[in-house]
Amino acid sequence: MNETRTAPTGIEKAGVIQKVAGPLIVATGMADVQMYDVVRVSDKRLIGEVIELRGDRASIQVYEETAGLGPGEPVYSTGEPLSVELAPGLIEGIFDGIQRPLDVIYEMTGERIARGIDVPKLSREKKWPFVPKAKVGDVVNPGDTLGTVAETPAVTQKIMVPPNVSGTLEWIFDGEATIVEPIARLKQSDGTTIELPMLQHWPVRKGRPYAEKVTPMEPMVTGQRVIDTLFPVAKGGVAAIPGPFGSGKTVVQHQLAKWADADIIVYVGCGERGNEMTDVLMEFPQLNDPRTGLPLMKRTVLIANTSDMPVAAREASIYTGITIAEYFRDMGYKVAIMADSTSRWAEALREMSGRLEEMPGEEGYPAYLSSRMAEFYERAGEVICLGKDGRTGAVSAIGAVSPPGGDTSEPVSQATLRIVKVFWGLSSTLAYKRHFPAIDWLTSYSLYSDKVAGFFDKSVAPDWSKQVRRTMALLSEEAELEEIVRLVGVDSLSFKDRLSLECTRSLREDFLHQDAFNPVDTYTSPKKQHDMLAAILAWYDKGLQALEDDVPFSRITSMKIIEKLGRMKYVREDEFSGHIVTLRKEMDAEFMALTEGEQADA
Ligand code: ADP
Repeated sequence: MNETRTAPTGIEKAGVIQKVAGPLIVATGMADVQMYDVVRVSDKRLIGEVIELRGDRASIQVYEETAGLGPGEPVYSTGEPLSVELAPGLIEGIFDGIQRPLDVIYEMTGERIARGIDVPKLSREKKWPFVPKAKVGDVVNPGDTLGTVAETPAVTQKIMVPPNVSGTLEWIFDGEATIVEPIARLKQSDGTTIELPMLQHWPVRKGRPYAEKVTPMEPMVTGQRVIDTLFPVAKGGVAAIPGPFGSGKTVVQHQLAKWADADIIVYVGCGERGNEMTDVLMEFPQLNDPRTGLPLMKRTVLIANTSDMPVAAREASIYTGITIAEYFRDMGYKVAIMADSTSRWAEALREMSGRLEEMPGEEGYPAYLSSRMAEFYERAGEVICLGKDGRTGAVSAIGAVSPPGGDTSEPVSQATLRIVKVFWGLSSTLAYKRHFPAIDWLTSYSLYSDKVAGFFDKSVAPDWSKQVRRTMALLSEEAELEEIVRLVGVDSLSFKDRLSLECTRSLREDFLHQDAFNPVDTYTSPKKQHDMLAAILAWYDKGLQALEDDVPFSRITSMKIIEKLGRMKYVREDEFSGHIVTLRKEMDAEFMALTEGEQADA
């Protein structure tokens, strides 16, 4: 790869290496570089980023293996911050933490990424069909749509005027072009002209601009009952899934990727062990988008940190991911970004901080752990985008946390908890009992519940939030009753309480439990979720009434309808509305028979 060793244009020699400590390099003579500038280290041109500057002494995190480097070698400055490339070619891409295309690199160099390799982040050769939407003579401003490119059958990119550019359109292209060829020419207010290609650059550590942030009100429907009904996430919301190994984090994330009503999925995988990441790389491209039947990759961008990459790239990966997510948000898309796992990301931060010899905070994590995490999550949200059509877009962020031993009192979980608004706590006890998704209803919460339930009240059923409140109350009462049962046995409970336990058993088994691998059960629409819950609660209410009417407890708990309640989840969506009407009639009839039988006996 000799051509990669020559200095790209715009690169100047800046400083000299003084010290090499793993992925961290200290260089002097760096007075002219800026914080977060990208540098190329040694004549091998390894990619690095300035993460600390003191006078002319810079600490550089290097995104490639530094073995063999030593003091005295040169450092070159590029004069640019770490940036991503934004253009057609992102979707279906598999990139590393600094957006190098892994598939292209593997083809060029095999399994291990060669050092100092210079591959464009997005293809310069591929031609895309550009369809103009703006006309010559139009005055265009940041965010305005110049044209569109159908990137995949599932995603059409808007080619937008970049931030900080505006003018009158003098010329616009129509046809196939690469991302670096001009597709429009603008006359700017100072009289100069500027040619715009489809390609935009954006520094990863800086949020992309928007017109206005709005409060997320609408749910991001996931089709997962425990999530939508009990702990919903808003479009533009932030959620965390902490859970020990084997508790179902991956399955939950796959379910969200498949079913959440997001247009674009950005999946950032920071695996500690190589095989975790291989799983993602192998599995994700095989998933199908249930709504279109197309591969899920047709609306997905994957960012993967392979095991042979130094930790520094892991640190950068979530910023790379969220910048790409923001770019699609700016087009008016609803984007979901998943970071799996933020614990691995935080460990990278800890390692770099240690090498910088910073004062360690709790468990060795740097004191700025929470502020760094907040910087990531704060870039989620629903916004009114730049551009004259006033479109809105949203980035919802979902971070998996893998606390050692599942103990969420550790710093990364705690920092996450302070930031996110939804917490889906996975429980190893539930997973052990094969209750999936193992989201623990006693420890999880959603701060969007009220707003989202209000939305469901209007759009699905007026008693949605009332049902949710009842369900939550019953489930927490169950925990108390279970405690009594453990201490003094079930016989000590009143029949009313025992009926309540029957109801919560049904809530757990027939409603909250959801099999991701069953073709029908894998997704439940909000309407079906509501009607299922309504049926279970109706059974409970009628059961209480029957107890009042002196129907024996055992007759109520051996009703035929109970089995049908348990099978509701396997009834297909298109058959459900008819099915539930019949089921409710049968339930009424069975209760009627019980009560009448009782009265006849008396
Ligand atoms: P983690 O990523 O937390 O280590 P996984 O997501 O791989 O855990 O889940 C472990 C196993 O639990 C899965 O292989 C699967 O058998 C089971 N499982 C998890 N969630 C579900 C679900 N919703 N439905 C059915 N099985 C599940």
